[in-house]
Amino acid sequence: MNDFQFHRPASLAEVFDLLESYGGDARLMAGGTALVQQMKQRLAQPGHVVSLGGLRQTPGLASIDAAADYHGAVRIGALCTHRQVETSPVVQRQIPLLAHAFRQVATPRIRNMATAGGGLVHGDPNQDPPPALIALGASVILTSAKGQRTLPVEQLFVDYFETAVRPGEVLTGILAPPLPPGAGAAYLKFLPRTADDYATVSVAVVITPGRNNTCQDVRIALGSVGMTPVHATQAESRLRGQPMTQDTLRACADAVAEEIDPLDDYRGSAGYKREMAQVFTRRALNQALAAAGQPGRPG
Ligand SMILES: Cc1cc2nc3c(=O)[nH]c(=O)nc-3n(C[C@H](O)[C@H](O)[C@H](O)COP(=O)(O)OP(=O)(O)OC[C@H]3O[C@@H](n4cnc5c(N)ncnc54)[C@H](O)[C@@H]3O)c2cc1C
Repeated sequence: MNDFQFHRPASLAEVFDLLESYGGDARLMAGGTALVQQMKQRLAQPGHVVSLGGLRQTPGLASIDAAADYHGAVRIGALCTHRQVETSPVVQRQIPLLAHAFRQVATPRIRNMATAGGGLVHGDPNQDPPPALIALGASVILTSAKGQRTLPVEQLFVDYFETAVRPGEVLTGILAPPLPPGAGAAYLKFLPRTADDYATVSVAVVITPGRNNTCQDVRIALGSVGMTPVHATQAESRLRGQPMTQDTLRACADAVAEEIDPLDDYRGSAGYKREMAQVFTRRALNQALAAAGQPGRPG
């Protein structure tokens, strides 16, 4: 690891000052689970590491709340650990899909350190929370010395390990809406190797049945199938407004193959992942429908 100066500011204002002073030579550190690995491998060699650990007492940064001014969304502070999200009574009650997705990350040891914000800014397409957040239609709050902006989670991911976070910005929170009334959801992580591995393929589905067994709305997002998490909008359009039979569910699941571009790696070849993406999307659609109390009818 290269030599670096460690800073532990106690306020966001101090963080912004440090980012301004050291520019591209500074890196934020939250849980450190990804950054320290990158520094050990010399993939990152910052001269200044700015810890966010001293900000956990800052209101809203390490807490989860469902206040009315978020239009029904649950606000998750960026410094909440994965374990905090997974075990939060508010998340478990209002968005069980999210509690489940955060629980799929690695081991309790990692989940006790890794933060919700750090995970997103890491920008790894193999992570578990992003597909669930995209399927829910969640947004992130990015704060800088100049103010705040919100961005849909799917727009956060621009390329392999690259996000839309601008220099000087800190991800301060996640706004996760609850499921629409009557909707069902599922997150499936295909793990053929070990239980604590990254996904070979992962799929999150939120589906809202309409009248006469038609699909009123559906959102599908996948992980480990390309350079970024993928929101499968074309596959969704194959099912939205259609009768929900096993045939239409299969056609929708098969259509994800056109929207993904998996990489060959030791978790599987690109072709294998493409097939598994279809299989697991079909399973996730059926599981989400069952959760909505409407198992898909035979075609
Ligand atoms: C052994 C191991 C197994 C893992 N398995 C899984 C898995 O199965 N599924 C999965 O989803 N993930 C997995 N992960 C990845 C893990 O989820 C990430 O390492 C973790 O979420 C990163 O969070 P952190 O708080 O530790 O981030 P850090 O390491 O502190 O930071 C990560 C990046 O985000 C930046 N950053 C941090 N916080 C902020 C912020 N608030 N605003 C702006 N930038 C910020 C940092 O500068 C850095 O670039 C695994 C990691 C390890 C080490």
